[in-house]
Amino acid sequence: MKRKLRVGVFSFTCCEGCCISVIESLNARLFDWKKRIEFVNFRALKKVKKIRKMDVAFVEGAISTDDEVLRLQEIRANAKILVALGSGAINGWPSNLRNDFKGAKKKKVMELVAGFGQNAKVVPVKEVVDVDDEVAGCPVSEDDFVKKMESFFDA
Ligand code: SF4
Repeated sequence: MKRKLRVGVFSFTCCEGCCISVIESLNARLFDWKKRIEFVNFRALKKVKKIRKMDVAFVEGAISTDDEVLRLQEIRANAKILVALGSGAINGWPSNLRNDFKGAKKKKVMELVAGFGQNAKVVPVKEVVDVDDEVAGCPVSEDDFVKKMESFFDA
């Protein structure tokens, strides 16, 4: 029997709406996908904090703290393929809107940013690690996510 695809799903600075699309996609496929996929990390499904070796890492959200940089680098080191999931991961939007604030608004926001221990700029995943693939959208559509996941089944 073929080995199961080892998959991780990870969230960074975002609304986690793309993970909702992932969960929605499981409604109709869970029993079929359970034969094909082992979710090694997916906070919505189980409590696993340690990053494990995996075939595919789906990453949603932009990167806004030094801790997120380190965690993303660890994910990259443990994943054969890293897929940016949604616009936040792909290009930083909408979490990066604060990068372009000006004047008094910027001053006020930067006080909050510093208070929360965030970095001055919010950046997309590709500015921290190499990205192999992506699924566009905000949020990604269930269909697009399913097509991408299933493209890895026989790879
Ligand atoms: S891309 Fe949009 S929907 Fe997806 S996690 Fe980011 S903000 Fe939320």
